[in-house]
Amino acid sequence: MAQIKLSKSAYFHNLEQICAKVGDKARVFAVLKDNAYGHGLAQIAALASEFGLKTAVVRDESEARSIESFFERIIILSHRANGAESTNAKFIYAINDFSNLEHIKSGSKVQITLDTLMHRHGLKKHELKEAFKLSKKRKINICGAYTHFCGADELSASFAIQNEMFLELKAYFKELCAEFGVKNPIFHLHNSAGIERDKNLANRDECVRVGIAQYGYAQFDESLELKPVLSLWASKLSERRLERGECVGYGGVFCAKEPMDIATYDLGYGDGLLRYNGKGEFVFNAKDKMLGRMSMDSFSSDSLSDELCVINDANIWAKYFDTINYDILVKLSPSLERVVVE
Ligand SMILES: *Cc1c(COP(=O)(O)O)cnc(C)c1O
Repeated sequence: MAQIKLSKSAYFHNLEQICAKVGDKARVFAVLKDNAYGHGLAQIAALASEFGLKTAVVRDESEARSIESFFERIIILSHRANGAESTNAKFIYAINDFSNLEHIKSGSKVQITLDTLMHRHGLKKHELKEAFKLSKKRKINICGAYTHFCGADELSASFAIQNEMFLELKAYFKELCAEFGVKNPIFHLHNSAGIERDKNLANRDECVRVGIAQYGYAQFDESLELKPVLSLWASKLSERRLERGECVGYGGVFCAKEPMDIATYDLGYGDGLLRYNGKGEFVFNAKDKMLGRMSMDSFSSDSLSDELCVINDANIWAKYFDTINYDILVKLSPSLERVVVE
């Protein structure tokens, strides 16, 4: 049966590298949104917790509920305030625009998203004082603020500019905290690419939100030495000989020029893989070729092994399909079996 293997040693290795660069484990938040980037939320949460991370960042309340026992703090990024928020003291809701402060349940813990350069979410400087006033009135518990880099992964000036904008807002936010009696606010801004690029990270006091790097994918050459955590394995369903001129799969896109042995495996685009259309030569694991169009639940290959590694480096897939490794990983179906291996 097809299976995802999660390497505990690779995961711990990556977290060690990242924590060493940040200089303090307590400042590292694990971004586990979207089923831990397709890796498996339950499995990765357990590992992150075993490693000693105390804070997780997720997409929504349902993800937060499912990993509640593993962390001291869970930041929920994509929540639309509805007045029915959980009273769980570990949950911290991101406030993505001012109206969310009007609707969120009294007593909720929140962090204010600061709109710097990305303009996707967040409050502007001129809204902050009102935000503190309203929070005081509505008994909303502000416990920090953060922003998100829009271009840390590109070697452009935006990274430095946004960092400066954040530091300015942070200073003002701290003044407001003092004025409104908010104690010990937490600040965080770096994503994976930001962690890689900031040479001064160990001397800063903000926390970081590490996503893709913990799963083993660095974005810059000079960066951390990371190891992919996930590998995806398919099992052989059947085997046959293609005679010369016989073609395999829908549309017969691949035809044997000489007699050849092929096998068909139990993974397809129904499992969240991007669909190979049979054109070009797709060497999906640096060794074996996919032959003809991928089916919903299967594909054929010139490999004959019983167990076949389909993804060991998501960059191979990302390059072939002109996308990013996140896109390859996050789509892997939650119903695939996931096992943690050493
Ligand atoms: C997804 C996300 C991250 C993590 O980004 P990586 O590039 O994977 O490290 C951090 N912060 C926010 C707000 C995000 O949405």
